[in-house]
Amino acid sequence: MTAIFDGHNDALGELQEAGDPPERFLTGVPERDVDLPRARAGGLAGGLFAVHLKSPPTEGESVWERADDGAVGHEAAAAVAISTIGIAHALAASSDGAVEIVTDAAGLDRCVAGEALGIVLSLEGAEPIDTGLTALDGWYAAGIRSVGLVWSRPSAFGYGVPFRFPASPDTGPGLTDAGLDLVRRCADLGIAVDISHLNAAGFADVARLGVAPIVASHNACHALCPSTRNLTDDQLREVGRSEGIVGIVFAAPFIRPDGRDEPDTPLSTLVAHVRHAADVAGIDHVGLGSDFDGATMPTELSDVARLPRLLDALRDDGFSSDDVERIAWGNWRRVLAAAWR
Ligand SMILES: [Zn+2]
Repeated sequence: MTAIFDGHNDALGELQEAGDPPERFLTGVPERDVDLPRARAGGLAGGLFAVHLKSPPTEGESVWERADDGAVGHEAAAAVAISTIGIAHALAASSDGAVEIVTDAAGLDRCVAGEALGIVLSLEGAEPIDTGLTALDGWYAAGIRSVGLVWSRPSAFGYGVPFRFPASPDTGPGLTDAGLDLVRRCADLGIAVDISHLNAAGFADVARLGVAPIVASHNACHALCPSTRNLTDDQLREVGRSEGIVGIVFAAPFIRPDGRDEPDTPLSTLVAHVRHAADVAGIDHVGLGSDFDGATMPTELSDVARLPRLLDALRDDGFSSDDVERIAWGNWRRVLAAAWR
């Protein structure tokens, strides 16, 4: 079975929010999308596991009706991040070697070889970090190896894109001074800089600072689905130029041409985004970034055990077995190793 590395899931956040014993992840959480038994069944070798504080709930039923603001405070975000990271370490410690917190390229290689499921801890929204960045080394020591600069809300570091369709991702100002400092410090420390959820001006700031590689952990193509969450062709080319990667998100409202939040979405819709990103950014700059446990998945990909169906669909679309290996894990391995140098 082809090993798969996934650029984004919300499994840890769901465990944290539900107050589940961490060990439940090891034995199975059937009501969710990701757990260890189904990760094994689907060939998931590892992924970026999000550490995230949700915004307060809003009235809207659809993803497109959610409030634009929903800012969260530093202390609240830090407390949830510590708790979530604690859960990850606890479940790895009790897994008898079946789960590993991955912090370097050798760890990625162990996971792709089938030795363990690799959790790469990834902040989604930098609010847990203080704007003085005094705690950044502490988060690094706790295992954080990727920082999503913003979620879809304003923060002290920048401005996330509100969920809009159809609309341009050019929705507001660029990174704040603290955000620019954060990008520089992450690059110095060897933490991947993730631009998912960032607006166009913030993306341009990251590119201007010379971040290489640029990581877009869970996005799709604006040319095929004009959501604010997606990357324009110019942005895809910039990701390619930086030797970076876009992990193609599976979430229905970000891949369907009509933007509807419906599971009745054929796999071919997702394959078209992989194809477009490969054409525009380059085959070496495309991976997967599911958003399992965080969004509406196409029915055929309703959980992690079904990942092989997507690889079959890519082969059926004409991707060579070598291309599929790069998309499934090779590109993520190369990009993360470069970011962590
Ligand atoms: Zn997200």
